[in-house]
Amino acid sequence: MSQSLKNKTAFLTIDDSPSSAFISKMNYLKDKNIPAVFFCIGNLMEKYPDEIVQAIHKGFVIANHSYAHPSFSKISVEECKEEISKTDKIIEELYQRAEVKRPAKWFRFPYGDKGDKKNGRVFSRWKRADKSRKSEIQKHLAQLGYTQPDFTEVNYKFMSQAGLYDDIDWSWTFDIMEWALSEKKPTLGLKNMDKIFKRMEQGRPSDCRGFLGFEKRWMSSDSAEVILLHDHEETNEAFFQIIDKLSTMRLDFEDI
Ligand SMILES: [Zn+2]
Repeated sequence: MSQSLKNKTAFLTIDDSPSSAFISKMNYLKDKNIPAVFFCIGNLMEKYPDEIVQAIHKGFVIANHSYAHPSFSKISVEECKEEISKTDKIIEELYQRAEVKRPAKWFRFPYGDKGDKKNGRVFSRWKRADKSRKSEIQKHLAQLGYTQPDFTEVNYKFMSQAGLYDDIDWSWTFDIMEWALSEKKPTLGLKNMDKIFKRMEQGRPSDCRGFLGFEKRWMSSDSAEVILLHDHEETNEAFFQIIDKLSTMRLDFEDI
């Protein structure tokens, strides 16, 4: 078997949970034996606490994705800290209610916006980035005990060039971009599921958040992947189709 035909290691992360279809999505993943980390929004967890407890019991990891999903660059640093702390408490209580030890404290910024005024250009250097705002928020994450796992198998240069391995919060390496689905105003031409699938099949798909360097990516690279998918009401149906599609690809989904 040639190198390029080997399966890649993949970690599935699902943002903006829980939706009204959270339980069926979670059960679907469980049936397919695909582990996942759910980056949850605080005010939605307050709406569906029992569902989160069920997910914990099924072995999924519940992680922090802020309380109300603001752009962190557009609010004060104090408000950023409050978004993180308030959601941290909610998750802590839900793990206690589930009587399961919280495995780790993980955080992902809404829109990948680290509060540094980089305008969501996650995978780029941004000369005007506000480093002091960024470091204050990172410090707060550290104080609360947040960490980024050691993703040794994720070895993309563009990630290190953008400084993403040094931060405490989680980024991702491949965004399914189903959030961009739109007939009228498609981002990168993603106007239907067919286009989403075509992009998933590409060796080096383009990304709206910028990219550094010209290394091989996604299915043409050997690096492990942190895949980003969303738990949105608008794409409830698409979610299952995307999981089916991912299951047919050269990917081995692993626990972190
Ligand atoms: Zn989000």
